[in-house]
Amino acid sequence: MLERAMGLFEAKGMKLTDLRRRVLTEIAASHQALGAYEILDRLSTKGPRLAPISVYRAIDALHAAGLVHRLESRNAFFACHSHHEPDRDQVFLACEKCGRVAEIQGEQVFAALNALVAKAHFQLRRSVTEMTGTCAACQSRT
Ligand SMILES: [Zn+2]
Ligand SMILES: [Zn+2]
Repeated sequence: MLERAMGLFEAKGMKLTDLRRRVLTEIAASHQALGAYEILDRLSTKGPRLAPISVYRAIDALHAAGLVHRLESRNAFFACHSHHEPDRDQVFLACEKCGRVAEIQGEQVFAALNALVAKAHFQLRRSVTEMTGTCAACQSRT
């Protein structure tokens, strides 16, 4: 995970600073998507209290590098584990029971959406697709 992170940062001419590394480790250690304040709290139990702005910036940098994704509906972040191209269109699957977030490749979904949007003469900037439901592990637990 950290090796991949270093590679991605280097490719963008950015640095994986100590804080970025710690924020990434925290996000990757959680199976759930974490909000910025949750990340801040977790880091604070392991060292001095950090300024929220520096944690936000670290999250932004990790997001820009494609190492973490943002779950818009919850304003929370989760680590990318699927080794896709940074700009690939992904569909996020958020489990309502355990909070786990998975991602699947959604190229076909987005191609269909883009075609519909173009038909409406709408200039698209960005699209996000998030699905909520129950993950496979939670289904077998019932
Ligand atoms: Zn991903
Ligand atoms: Zn679940």
